[in-house]
Amino acid sequence: MPGSLLDRRIAEGPGPIMTETKTPRPLVAGNWKMNGLKASAREITALGEKLAAAKPPGCEILVCPPATLLSTFAPLTSKAGIGLGAQDCHAKPSGAHTGDISAEMLADIGCAYVIVGHSERRADHAESDEIVRAKAEATHRAGLTAIICVGETEVERDAGDTLEIVAGQIADSVPKAATAANTVIAYEPIWAIGTGRTPGADDVAEVHGLIRSALEMHAITDADEMRILYGGSVKPANARELMAVRNVDGALVGGASLKAEDFWGIIEAYV
Ligand code: PEP
Repeated sequence: MPGSLLDRRIAEGPGPIMTETKTPRPLVAGNWKMNGLKASAREITALGEKLAAAKPPGCEILVCPPATLLSTFAPLTSKAGIGLGAQDCHAKPSGAHTGDISAEMLADIGCAYVIVGHSERRADHAESDEIVRAKAEATHRAGLTAIICVGETEVERDAGDTLEIVAGQIADSVPKAATAANTVIAYEPIWAIGTGRTPGADDVAEVHGLIRSALEMHAITDADEMRILYGGSVKPANARELMAVRNVDGALVGGASLKAEDFWGIIEAYV
């Protein structure tokens, strides 16, 4: 771990927590994980109705259902002006990889985004930073945007290692050629996922500031424009506060994205 980055962040401190104007355009993305059947399409229809009835939100909206629902959702999301994304892809474009799906196949079905390196895939499928980077590169090869997930475990947090872990994941998971147009970072503290617990605004500001610095040190030319989402127990009740934190450019939402009512309550942070 290059000490200089951490030293710089610690010396600078997280800076002011709140920011008034949000640039670039924020993204609120729903990760449905392994949930949903064809009947769940009614939630996309309901979300579309809410969008049509409200003034246009100041954020992009994305839904990432399981692969089985992508073709069912594609016409509905397209009609509603909602983006469609996948939760994973294989690094290769095609071949003998039973059960896998390539980024090119996801582009073919209408996806614009692919989540890569979610902590559940890192844990359940032993995905290393190198595998995550290869998947992000595959996403770029197919002309799609990668949402690269990073975040620390509770043990790492308690040991005071959060900044080091996250900076290491950025250095090793983000392709050198990544740009703000084809890559989004999602900071998801693993202990906050599905638990109802969230870090304080000052902690979120500190880690997101560190990620911004790490992207600059990674020689990402437009690092200041790359969106950095917060994820982990985002709900309608805490969305406005979390989305107002400096360097938070949207949310990656799990459980609360499954129901149109809840997801809309989070999007409303930008209405
Ligand atoms: C997630 O797993 O990406 C997530 C953020 O989950 P939840 O919102 O349910 O904590």
